[in-house]
Amino acid sequence: MSTRPAIVWFRDDLRLDDHPALQWAIASGRPVVALWVLDEASPGVRPLGGAARWWLDRSLRSLARSLEARGGRLVLRRGPASVVVPAVVAETGAGAVCWNRRYGAAEVAIDRELEDDLSNRGIEVESFHGSVLFEPNATRTGSGGPYRVFTPFWRACRAGAAPRAPSDAPARIAAPALPIASDDLDAWGLTPTKPDWSGGLAATWTPGEAGAAARLATFLREGIYSYTDDRDRPDLEAVSRLSPHLRFGEISPFRVWAAVEAVAAERPTASVEKFRAELGWREFCHHLAFHFPDLEERSFQPRFDAFAWRDDPAFLAAWRRGQTGYPLVDAGMRQLWQTGWMHNRVRMVVASFLAKHGLIDWRHGERWFWDTLVDACPANNPAGWQWVAGCGADAAPYFRIFNPITQSETFDPDGAYIRRFVPELAQLPTDAIHAPWKAPTLVLRAAGVRLDDTYPRPIVDHATARARALDAFAATAAG
Ligand SMILES: Cc1cc2nc3c(=O)[nH]c(=O)nc-3n(C[C@H](O)[C@H](O)[C@H](O)COP(=O)(O)OP(=O)(O)OC[C@H]3O[C@@H](n4cnc5c(N)ncnc54)[C@H](O)[C@@H]3O)c2cc1C
Repeated sequence: MSTRPAIVWFRDDLRLDDHPALQWAIASGRPVVALWVLDEASPGVRPLGGAARWWLDRSLRSLARSLEARGGRLVLRRGPASVVVPAVVAETGAGAVCWNRRYGAAEVAIDRELEDDLSNRGIEVESFHGSVLFEPNATRTGSGGPYRVFTPFWRACRAGAAPRAPSDAPARIAAPALPIASDDLDAWGLTPTKPDWSGGLAATWTPGEAGAAARLATFLREGIYSYTDDRDRPDLEAVSRLSPHLRFGEISPFRVWAAVEAVAAERPTASVEKFRAELGWREFCHHLAFHFPDLEERSFQPRFDAFAWRDDPAFLAAWRRGQTGYPLVDAGMRQLWQTGWMHNRVRMVVASFLAKHGLIDWRHGERWFWDTLVDACPANNPAGWQWVAGCGADAAPYFRIFNPITQSETFDPDGAYIRRFVPELAQLPTDAIHAPWKAPTLVLRAAGVRLDDTYPRPIVDHATARARALDAFAATAAG
């Protein structure tokens, strides 16, 4: 047993429950230094967007409280990890550094370099498998390459060893006797002030480990049994909303998996397998991001590099503001702006609308999501965008163009979702709310809707846009 501390470097794992690196450090008997590094300076690291920064601020505060309740303390530092981590090692006299592995190309490079550097100085370095169920390099096709299609990927994952059981949070964490300097989180300015647009986020979410556990419990009590039937309905509370908690590692995917397993054992339902498959999509996206590192920059299918995207700032601005004239699209974009999250079905519809109806480069949409989503994920976000745009791995075929009117009628049948996020249409009867421009003048007038005044006409005609997109995509697909 050594008295030289072990540094536990927290990254995408802001929790104490099922945290293999933390467990290892405690089991080593060393005092534990819990470290978080705000690294926006290392090459290739993607700085967080605004909504994710807000989340990070809250999540770090929550983690700091949990550590303190057990005798530990969170040390905050800012700068390139390759400089900051060795500096904290030197300051504290640490004899070991450990972390849970991450899988983005830049992050992998940073970790490898640090591991070499610290090992060469005689510091013990350990890394652990804690943030995904199946590590990206462990799942390979028969020929040894990465998977490019979800179904065989997930089949291969499921055919291997089942995810391990999660372990509980430690009861006590022994901190070093001497205090260690830490940055002041307030001084990092992660939350918006001028203006403070985070009110809707704060009203919607409880970042942190306790909030994550509460979400999971609510979902397992209320949502899981109807998940297969209702998961595409944005007007219902039918999905878990765990995405930001998983993104920041406030809950371990092993904990989620085990909890779902327990539900299935008690009351079997087909929904459990469906939900597991959605967790599988998260795994697949991380697999892709690991093996194809330019996912947010380059089309996965290189022939799309030559695609003639349109430059149309007015279209892009109307899409961002939720002013396209298509109520479901506008409701989704406003849900995103107000709450930092959007329902998956609507993410597909709005992404398709931008890339296909607008023929706007999917990267513009991906970046907007990156800035506005609390769950903005360097793997799921570009993979989701490329899937919808038709240029990704296992992509939706280019001729799948989501019809924003029929999607609205099918998945928001009473218009409740639209009424909530597009209040200027709230008084419209249900048969008029999905396509207000088709409604009789008297109906519009009775609902207080004045087209082009209180609510826009469609920015583009659906049939015309669809035909234009089919032509453009067919040309690329053929080439
Ligand atoms: C254009 C586009 C962009 C997206 N960007 C992101 C993103 O930045 N971050 C993000 O976490 N998800 C992203 N997704 C995937 C998906 O929309 C969200 O994970 C989901 O809506 C989150 O809600 P939930 O937690 O209630 O999901 P649930 O339906 O309850 O699913 C449980 C978990 O499974 C994972 N999951 C579910 N669906 C997917 C999927 N299609 N791809 C990957 N993982 C999935 C998530 O971790 C989710 O929390 C995107 C999808 C699209 C189409």
